[in-house]
Amino acid sequence: MRHAIILLMAGLLILTACKKNDELNINLKYDQNLSLEYHEVIDAYSQLADYYAEARLVEMGKTDIGKPLHLFMISGDGDFDPESVKKKGRCIILINNGIHPGEPEGIDASIQFSWDLLENRNDLKKYLDNVMIGIIPMYNIGGALDRSQYYRTNQNGPIYNGRRRNARNLDLNRDFAKQETENARSFAKTFLFLNPDVFLDTHTTNGSDHQYTITLIATLYSKLDTAMGTFFKNKMLPELYERMEKNSEYEMIPYIQMSNYFGDIKDGIMAYNDDPFYSTGYTSLFNCYSFMTENLVYKYFPDRVRSVVDFLTQLTDFTYDNCSEIRQLKDEADKIIKEQNLFHLAWELDRSYSENILFKGYEYIRPEPSEGMRVRGYYDHDKPWTDTIPYYTKYDPVLTVKKPWAYVIPQAWSDVVDKLKYNGITVYRLGNNTDIEVETYYIENAERSERPNQGHYVNRNVKVRTVNQEMPFYKGDYIIITNQHANRYIVEMLEPQAPNSYFAWNYFDPILEAQDFYSFRTFESQLMELLDKDEELRAAMEKRKTEDESFANDQMAQLRFIYERSPMYEIEKYNRLYPVCRLINEPDNLDLEEDPI
Ligand SMILES: [Zn+2]
Repeated sequence: MRHAIILLMAGLLILTACKKNDELNINLKYDQNLSLEYHEVIDAYSQLADYYAEARLVEMGKTDIGKPLHLFMISGDGDFDPESVKKKGRCIILINNGIHPGEPEGIDASIQFSWDLLENRNDLKKYLDNVMIGIIPMYNIGGALDRSQYYRTNQNGPIYNGRRRNARNLDLNRDFAKQETENARSFAKTFLFLNPDVFLDTHTTNGSDHQYTITLIATLYSKLDTAMGTFFKNKMLPELYERMEKNSEYEMIPYIQMSNYFGDIKDGIMAYNDDPFYSTGYTSLFNCYSFMTENLVYKYFPDRVRSVVDFLTQLTDFTYDNCSEIRQLKDEADKIIKEQNLFHLAWELDRSYSENILFKGYEYIRPEPSEGMRVRGYYDHDKPWTDTIPYYTKYDPVLTVKKPWAYVIPQAWSDVVDKLKYNGITVYRLGNNTDIEVETYYIENAERSERPNQGHYVNRNVKVRTVNQEMPFYKGDYIIITNQHANRYIVEMLEPQAPNSYFAWNYFDPILEAQDFYSFRTFESQLMELLDKDEELRAAMEKRKTEDESFANDQMAQLRFIYERSPMYEIEKYNRLYPVCRLINEPDNLDLEEDPI
């Protein structure tokens, strides 16, 4: 990774050397209900980078369609080294656009915002005193290149939209944890490079109708480091809503997820539990204040774009005003995370706690059914209402694990180690063959999802049995020490019960299959001899037969019953044994070599 950053910095120097265009020719078209196409977007940022000394456009790796993932950066003194920028006490904001290319407000809004800022319209350039901006102009390039007027057909503009899924037909906003796309891997590289304080991903939402053009998903404050979460809940979030109300014509409201799925908005709404497969769930694992804007599809596209320009301005304004506190809290959280022992992996809404918020909705009309017609409800724009509604924001942890000193991953599973490396995680390898006493998990329960999800049949409701045992490891097996900035990612991905772990995403499914196969032709008599010799075993089987009718009629199940209680069953010790082991304490004489990233 260090190598990659040096190369990138060299690239920046070359880009810096060849400057500057005389004039700008950027034609934003959102006022005409059009969103810029991919080549127009990259052209606009190239022009801005060529025109302003404070702007740079660089490539940060590939995407699945083969085109590069671009990063546009704005930095006041032309310093584009994030580490150096942070040393100067500045904050970094990263904005991601076009993950769902049919939801393109942020694509156009980010160009408008960058141009306004660089041109110092409305005195915006002052933000560059202590804020550096990073913008991913278009994340899902594969989806964006396929445009149609029929994508998102009930959306109120723009006329042409891109496709939600990417070149591999994956939803990129489900790929941040498992990182199966080039896009996600290039995002991880970008995120690691900037290590931003604030992250925003721009979207559009359908569903219920109301009076707001822009809604906001904020990562759950309870998932953040304690001090960061308190600042987020008590200061950052309330102020962002207040600033939008005061300084924009587009008032903002939390994203509408009804607390009663089959009920009404008036019953209340709940904060969104953003798992790590979402952009905000992933970025917040690394101590980053993370947001998704969700514009409402029924509002006109130009208004949706303007509301995002306003939010980008207010988000930058807040960061500018509170930069030293934001920096200090993140720096402390980055230190704390390395020492943190307990990690919460699953969350449940606390329905006993809610806040009241003022909500501006439209009356939902359910007409009387008439014969032969399907009843269609609708929101009546002539009947607006304003009322306080409950907003449920508190989630409690329902699964907590204590981190081990290190995880041991046999080299047979190096594909997951590669994924850890994409995230900047330091990895060691064993210098020689060695037996180590470790904590292991046997998978007691794992239920496959019935429908495919991102090309997977995800393992859910995972239950484990813990067994301490000595395991043989080999020279070259991997050791992941849990003293890292990415500790939350490490634990979330390697603990099999975590809803987004590599185990959940099927990376370890072969271990769920039986170890060996025995032929009943000869093995059956061997087992029957065993039964003849072992009174206790026979009694246990007879008891089971009387209790379980299907067992009594299933000869194969009976043979299996004997086999599982026979000495031969020892060979099945690897059956359902999760191969990633937990090394609870640091051993005295472990021979380790750092594996280059
Ligand atoms: Zn979306």
